[in-house]
Parts: sequence; structure tokens; C-alpha cells
Amino acid sequence: MASGTKSLSGKVALVTGSTSGIGLGIARCLGEQGADLMLNGFGEAGAIEALRAELARDLDVRVEYDSADLAQPTQVSGLVRRTAAALGGLDVLVNNAGIQYTAEIKDFPVERWDAVIAVNLSAAFHAMQAAIPGMTGKGWGRIINIASAHGLVGSAQKSAYVAAKHGLVGLTKVAAIELANTGVTVNAICPGWVLTPLVQAQLDARAAREGSDIETVKRALLSEKQPMVEFTVPESIGGLVVFLCSGASRTLTGSSLSMDGGWTAG
Ligand code: NAD
Repeated sequence: MASGTKSLSGKVALVTGSTSGIGLGIARCLGEQGADLMLNGFGEAGAIEALRAELARDLDVRVEYDSADLAQPTQVSGLVRRTAAALGGLDVLVNNAGIQYTAEIKDFPVERWDAVIAVNLSAAFHAMQAAIPGMTGKGWGRIINIASAHGLVGSAQKSAYVAAKHGLVGLTKVAAIELANTGVTVNAICPGWVLTPLVQAQLDARAAREGSDIETVKRALLSEKQPMVEFTVPESIGGLVVFLCSGASRTLTGSSLSMDGGWTAG
């Protein structure tokens, strides 16, 4: 597609936690539509630079990387500031970075609770607080929070994650109401199982615990929660993000959009 016909040419997108998994899939989809990209997340410096250069070359957009640790509030606001300084603004903010820890509440380490809440919930608040003035000033912006099916229903052993994701769904609603007539929309996406490093770690742990092979554990994991026994791919989440940036979604705000193989339909 010639760059003039791409839907997000001239826009700048920041996707937190985009060195891997869903965030990387979202960044790719936004870049394919012509958005300049700020990547963020952890990883080995050489591999991240190779990824940054590959995306810039393949997508023909500007791609920058910032190593901000989203558990640190000042680093989150700094990330938003540096995005605007490096790329000339911030039009699309995708709060995607997330971590998981599983244990029953009685055994849940307090420092793990604090870390999951910091990265999965508080970072989105800090990023939105820093990004909103620029977006309302321009009269256009898109804020997309990657929540989870666990933003809508609970599961055992995931107290911090479920609390953070329910909180993110609530934060999305408040921001959408506050920004309703500013040109800025705010929505949450609630994926079911997506096969990424975060989920692979859960599969590996379960296979080891149960003495089972990965394919058996994959089927068991999916069928416990989802009527559709199939993983969502990161690019499908990216496609929904692109839709939320389109003209057709102009009045779509404050919603939590499930892409979960029917997990929360029952
Ligand atoms: P992932 O582990 O593959 O990627 C997470 C990304 O966040 C990585 O780039 C990582 O470096 C980054 N990150 C983690 N902690 C960070 C920090 N403190 N500062 C900056 N970056 C940090 O995970 P994923 O599966 O792609 O998950 C992405 C989002 O989607 C998360 O919010 C997760 O809760 C949500 N989600 C995932 C699934 C799933 O099945 N994979 C389902 C529903 C929701």
C-alpha cells in the first residue's frame, strides 16, 4: 500500500511492552497502517535493536525504542514525554505491558502483589495522565488498554492479576466519560488465551508439574476456559486496535471488547 493511503500515516503510537508477544503484534499492525512507533519493554539490547531496525525497514515508518521500567511511575511519564519529543507527538497510546504471578491469596508474596498492580494497572494510569493533555490539545487521540478476560471474570490463584485487570476496565470507563467530547476515545480489549511468552511460561510450569507434554497441556488449558479450543494470535488483537483507531469507531468509547473464544460468553 502506498504510504499516502495508509489509515494512520502521520500518527504516532506508543505501545508499552512491545518487545514481545501481543504488544509486538499490535505495534506491527499499527506500523503497517503507517503509524510511527515507540517500542518499550525488556529484553537483550542487541535483539531489541535488531527488532527496531527490522520494523523500521519492513514497515517504512520511524521506529524508536525506550527501556522505561513501567513499575516506576516517573519512568512511565518520562516514556510519554520522550515519545512526543522523539516522534513529534503521541496520538495512540496502547497500555499493553503486563506481568503475571500465580499463588493462592494466603501464600501470595506482598512484593509480587505490588509489582503486578504497578505494571498492569498503575502504569496505565500514569501513562494516561501524561498523554491526555497532548491528545485533548490536538482534539484527537486513541487510548487502548489491554485488559484480559480476567478483567471481567476471576480465576483461582490470580488475585493480583484479576484485581489489576478489573481495575483497568474500570479506569477505562472513567477516562472515556471524562474525555467523551474531546475527540479522544478510551477502550479496553479483553483477550482470552493468546500464545505468547507469558502463557508459554504457564504451559511449561504446568507440563512440569503434571508430568505431561506441552500439546496435552495446551488443549487442557484452552478447554478449561474457552468454548473455542484455539489460541488467539497477537495480530488479531492488533487488528482490533487498528479498528479502534479508525473513523468507524468514532463513538466507540468506554467499552471492553472481548476477543476470547467465548470464554466470558457463558
Ligand atoms: P509477554 O510476556 O509476551 O510480553 C509482555 C511485555 O511487557 C514484554 O515486552 C515485557 O518486556 C514487557 N514488560 C513486562 N514488565 C515490564 C515493565 N516493568 N516495564 C516495561 N515493560 C515490561 O506478555 P503478553 O502475553 O504479550 O501480554 C501482553 C498483555 O496482554 C499483558 O497486559 C497481558 O496481561 C495481556 N493478556 C495476555 C493474554 C495471553 O493469553 N497472553 C491474555 C489476556 C491478556
